[in-house]
Amino acid sequence: MSHAAQAKAQYNLNKLHKRLRRGVGQAISDFGMISDGDKIMVCLSGGKDSYTMLDILLNMQQSAPINFSIIAVNLDQKQPGFPAEVLPNYLQGIGVDYQIVTEDTYAIVKDKIPEGKTTCSLCSRLRRGILYRTAKELGATKIALGHHRDDMLETLFLNMFYGGKMKSMPPKLISDNGEHIVIRPLAYCKEKDIEKYAQARQFPIIPCNLCGSQDGLQRQVIKEMLQDWDKRFPGRIETMFQAMQNVVPSHLADNSLFDFAALSKGHTLALEGDTAFDHISVPAVPVGLAKDDEDEPEQHSVSSGVQIVQLS
Ligand code: SF4
Repeated sequence: MSHAAQAKAQYNLNKLHKRLRRGVGQAISDFGMISDGDKIMVCLSGGKDSYTMLDILLNMQQSAPINFSIIAVNLDQKQPGFPAEVLPNYLQGIGVDYQIVTEDTYAIVKDKIPEGKTTCSLCSRLRRGILYRTAKELGATKIALGHHRDDMLETLFLNMFYGGKMKSMPPKLISDNGEHIVIRPLAYCKEKDIEKYAQARQFPIIPCNLCGSQDGLQRQVIKEMLQDWDKRFPGRIETMFQAMQNVVPSHLADNSLFDFAALSKGHTLALEGDTAFDHISVPAVPVGLAKDDEDEPEQHSVSSGVQIVQLS
């Protein structure tokens, strides 16, 4: 590669890194993901998303004005062909604390689920239980998962198309028993950026199809639909993600979110107001397209309140 090409590649990588950092910082700030003293258990699968999440969090840790520690955890589920040495080598190389948990969930799943049936539901339940137990043993206060903006949108459409629910993956959630807080620091990051970053950084990616499950087919269909929309209608993905953050219960039809029965004269709607006889007007240009955030200044905090992390 020529010197000029090298310089350009480095410039692009820096820009990408800055954009990802900005997205992670903003999500951490908006959803109160990390507080002083937190011990973050970063779940590492060996895919591009979790490598990127770990890399960005480690980088932010160096300049954050609050203290938080990181421990990377990989669950080796004993899938055939899983290259068990890849992650320990990488993690030792970058000098991060880590733990590899080995549990043969693959054998359990194969034993319990008849051939040809989808295995993901049992597999992910087992994985969740093991990761929660590990977090407790390690004294981790937060569990970080590498899902990104496009995973959240895909999940929204999966739930709408197949599940009859308007529901996605939350950026932050609490486990059913109230013991664990799960965060998704990549919630604002685009998959395309993560892909390019992982390639440029040459993370030693472990293929994600080792278990041979076909359960991802519905998700793949949704993913292709969204990618097609992204090509044909620039700004649509950004606009839809913005919509997820801008919900108007009084203008949907869920009685549990808005008490339609209690509406009576004298009652005013707090949001959006009376649109009963209005022509439905939408912006000529998708709102997500108007926003080119590449060079926005980075300004957000890692803990609630004060603006404390400058990410450039
Ligand atoms: S794709 Fe494979 S590893 Fe992932 S949840 Fe499904 S069965 Fe488990």
